[in-house]
Amino acid sequence: ESKEIIKNLEETLKEKGYEKEVQIVKTGCFGFCEKGPIIKIHPDHVFYVEVKPEDVNEIVEEHVIKGRVVERLLYEEPALEQKITQQEKMSFYKKQLRLALRNCGFINPENIKEYIAEDGYLALGRAVKEMTPEAVIEVIKASGLRGRGGGGFPTGRKWELTHGNKNDLKFIICNADEGDPGAFMDRSILEGDPHSILEAMAIAGYAIGAEKGYIYIRAEYPLAIQRLNIAIEQAREYGLLGERIFDSDFNFDIELKYGAGAFVCGEETALLNSIEGGRGEPNAKPPFPAESGLWDKPTCVNNVETLANIPQILLKGSEWFSRIGTKDSKGTKVFALAGKVNNVGLVEVPMGITLREIIFDIGGGIRDNKKFKAVQTGGPSGGCIPEAYLDTHVDYQTLQEVGSIMGSGGMIVMDEDDCMVNITKFYLEFAEDESCGKCTPCRIGNKRLHEILIRITNGKGTREDLHNLKSLGEIIKDSSLCGLGQSSPNPILSTLEYFEDEYKAHVMDKT
Ligand code: SF4
Repeated sequence: ESKEIIKNLEETLKEKGYEKEVQIVKTGCFGFCEKGPIIKIHPDHVFYVEVKPEDVNEIVEEHVIKGRVVERLLYEEPALEQKITQQEKMSFYKKQLRLALRNCGFINPENIKEYIAEDGYLALGRAVKEMTPEAVIEVIKASGLRGRGGGGFPTGRKWELTHGNKNDLKFIICNADEGDPGAFMDRSILEGDPHSILEAMAIAGYAIGAEKGYIYIRAEYPLAIQRLNIAIEQAREYGLLGERIFDSDFNFDIELKYGAGAFVCGEETALLNSIEGGRGEPNAKPPFPAESGLWDKPTCVNNVETLANIPQILLKGSEWFSRIGTKDSKGTKVFALAGKVNNVGLVEVPMGITLREIIFDIGGGIRDNKKFKAVQTGGPSGGCIPEAYLDTHVDYQTLQEVGSIMGSGGMIVMDEDDCMVNITKFYLEFAEDESCGKCTPCRIGNKRLHEILIRITNGKGTREDLHNLKSLGEIIKDSSLCGLGQSSPNPILSTLEYFEDEYKAHVMDKT
């Protein structure tokens, strides 16, 4: 539909003689998926939602030519029953803080000049011209940035470890193997602001001493791949990738590597095996990639969202960044807000915000005025958090304390009609399918958990099954080799804790 809108805009503007006065910019995602397609008119910042191809004539005639806002295409704020003209005033955006998504929905991602106009590549220039690699690492360490891919490991420390391992060959890898069902944080950043990732990788390369970077991206992301390829070509043309960047001694270039959609390849050692052409299976750690990674060379693997923060931290300083968020979780986090919430979309919020604020203020509450039941954070391996914990603050530690994880940013809301046992069964089926099979607890254990859940949802479960779910889940968590197995029982363990009654209602033996 968006393509048709663009085509209609081009034709209508031409027909009416405005094709030179009005520029059409194809941006990345605005985040407000629920209300797309969106057209934003500059310089007056009017934000039109749910635009249809047949609305284009009216927008051009009324807004572009006569300067009158098309009221019927404005967003109506449900609580106020009032039309809102500008993005910043909508409840969906008011509590958001868009740092990683700063350029998405704003610049044309296929035009390097637009990125440069927003201070793009300034941080890279500053790093290679004015700073030592150690000084760059210190800034990232002091900022408190932690990995946004799920692990939450301090980014500056990761860079320091890789920097400290002396070798004539090192690598920086961007992990763009986003595999959570319904998650599209990384895809949106790559589609909407690819240069920010290239710039961040070059900065990371300079800091750790790598001249080569790889972006490991799912082959199912064709638009992100297309835009990355365009961005890489442009950056090379402008001398921002390649040899003697900014007339320094620093050489750096980037290549894409494609993943085939295996969830486990998001685990960094599995990803490295996949790039080397081997099976996408995790390795036991240590050694960590910082010591022995791609082709046994020191390697730093950073996720897309983590990298998207880097140029700004370097430009605005570690103090600016560390003032955002909580004591141990700095900055912002992007979430793909989905499920039974009114405003489905991509949101970026400061760490420390509550789940209630995300779901009710930004997300607009539960669809069809139903009752909230639970929210699952952290993708398929996250726990389901009940209403009693809606005021939980979103940070790495607190989410773990209530039985879930930050993960890479999936957030699925459930209402009173959802059966928690059925939902848990879905996640266990996913874990069983995606287990690489290398270690027994995950390979066999998740299969057994799934079988028990099938039995329970078919009305053939017993009390003993409930006991086995818990004990087996804990064993799998404790004994699996990688993060997939270590977290796959989370949906079971959290729902057994918070929604035990629903399990009991399913089992035949209720005594
Ligand atoms: Fe493979 Fe699962 Fe073991 Fe990870 S935990 S290595 S996915 S079998």
